[in-house]
Amino acid sequence: MAGHEHVRVAVIGSGFGGLGAAVRLRRAGITDFAVLERRDSVGGTWRDNSYPGCACDVPSHLYSFSFAPNPDWPRNFSGQEHIRAYLEKVADTFGLRPHIRFDSEVLSARWDTEALHWEIETARGALTADMLVSATGPLSDPKIPDIPGLDGFTGKVFHSAQWDHDYDLRGKRVAMIGTGASAIQIVPSIQPLVDRLTLFQRTPPWVMPRMDREITRAERWLHAKVPPTRALRRQMLWLIREFQVGAFTKHPAQLGLVEKLARHHMTKVVKDPVLRAKLTPDYRIGCKRILLSNTYYPALVKPNVDVVASGLKEVRGNTLVAADGTGTEVDAVIFGTGFHVTDMPVAQRITGAQGITLAEAWKDGMEALRGSTATGFPNFMTVIGPNTGLGNSSMILMIEAQLNYMVDYLRQLETLTAGSAGRAALDARPEAVRSWTDHVQRRMTRTVWNTGGCDSWYLDANGRNTTVWPGTTGEFRKVTRNVDLAEYEVLRAPARSGQRKAEATR
Ligand code: NAP
Repeated sequence: MAGHEHVRVAVIGSGFGGLGAAVRLRRAGITDFAVLERRDSVGGTWRDNSYPGCACDVPSHLYSFSFAPNPDWPRNFSGQEHIRAYLEKVADTFGLRPHIRFDSEVLSARWDTEALHWEIETARGALTADMLVSATGPLSDPKIPDIPGLDGFTGKVFHSAQWDHDYDLRGKRVAMIGTGASAIQIVPSIQPLVDRLTLFQRTPPWVMPRMDREITRAERWLHAKVPPTRALRRQMLWLIREFQVGAFTKHPAQLGLVEKLARHHMTKVVKDPVLRAKLTPDYRIGCKRILLSNTYYPALVKPNVDVVASGLKEVRGNTLVAADGTGTEVDAVIFGTGFHVTDMPVAQRITGAQGITLAEAWKDGMEALRGSTATGFPNFMTVIGPNTGLGNSSMILMIEAQLNYMVDYLRQLETLTAGSAGRAALDARPEAVRSWTDHVQRRMTRTVWNTGGCDSWYLDANGRNTTVWPGTTGEFRKVTRNVDLAEYEVLRAPARSGQRKAEATR
């Protein structure tokens, strides 16, 4: 790739992870970087998901960057349009626009073992970078299950993350597939519009009340004029969640009380015993993400709604056939079936030092040192990598912790490169990755995600939990504060254009 533009860091994606990385790079005095965005605006999953009712179930004062507080959040749980506007504002306020390259989907990234840099092909040309940061997030590629006969369906089909706003649902017979966080926000929003709504529920979720309210003008004024009040609010939201973690990770039996509250939340609205039975989960609360809604159950008891307590198995003509054999003819199918989380498509496009892709390296399960770096993929890190997900708090805390790690990684590279030693790259040692993974998996054995008796997307095809962090966010922040060079092999190259084979120094 001689002659191509070279940057110090290339970041893939401009959602929370990518924009956060850009801010932290600039603050560390690094301006030689590019953010490669496949679409034409920032926001990531908060740009793509515009379905009716889309909102975040983590309070906005916590679900935002610590370095970009927003005194103007309108509600406890703000809607997608406010979160998207917040991210647009972050891009402007922190001067990120000149770094962002829109319509620049990364087609491939290959580690050059001689030049010690990444060769990146994008939809708008090629570049090279010393470091590659993948910030695509796990919720960027919608997943539609492989349903036999779906191709022959002549009605409308779309995914919750690709909502067709031109399609008029009024008066239609609509099937909603799935009962995850997206579906339970969609159901109450479209139920009043449609003629009939059939919900295909494979597993009933646990649903808790949503303590939402408007943040008053007085509160907003106070947060703007007296910033410590805003900080205190964030601190309280964070602390409450930190205290809850132990119940999920060490003492799932304690969640029994929460189960009682959730059951009461359902039974006070759902009086029909048949429907109650369908909606009652048979696994420990918290095993799957606990959903928050005050409008889901009230929508399900409306006369134009049917709950099919079975997954969608097949489509015959315009009839959806559930696993229990029942058939329902519909005009439109909406898939709320989630994302490629444990099989992120971007992993197929990233090729490391051994000539294999990240997807191949992770074929038996994702693993990364401190949720960030993988052996054989030098100078590469994943934001929201393996075992960095949360069951009860804000992912922005995890993203920021990983960005501390990224900044320290770059500092270490700079130090190693100073002087006459030549340029350096860091490759996570296999034994360090193994020891980290074993440590995480050992802790996982007691968690509600592994013992709660449910099947969830937290688990990969081998039943291993490679998605959730089994600790507090404070703990994760500690373990990602610095890069420990003992966990890395230092690779060397004499000069950027040098042709000498990079030598490993041990
Ligand atoms: P999801 O949590 O992966 O849920 C997918 C749903 O589809 C599950 O209920 C699953 O059933 C169901 N499903 C899959 N195949 C099916 C079939 N053949 N028939 C019937 N049902 C089927 O997806 P999501 O709701 O889009 O959420 C994805 C992620 O986004 C989650 O992390 C979620 O927490 C996050 N999210 C967050 C918010 C927020 O407020 N912060 C809002 C929306 C989404 P099973 O349960 O049986 O597998």
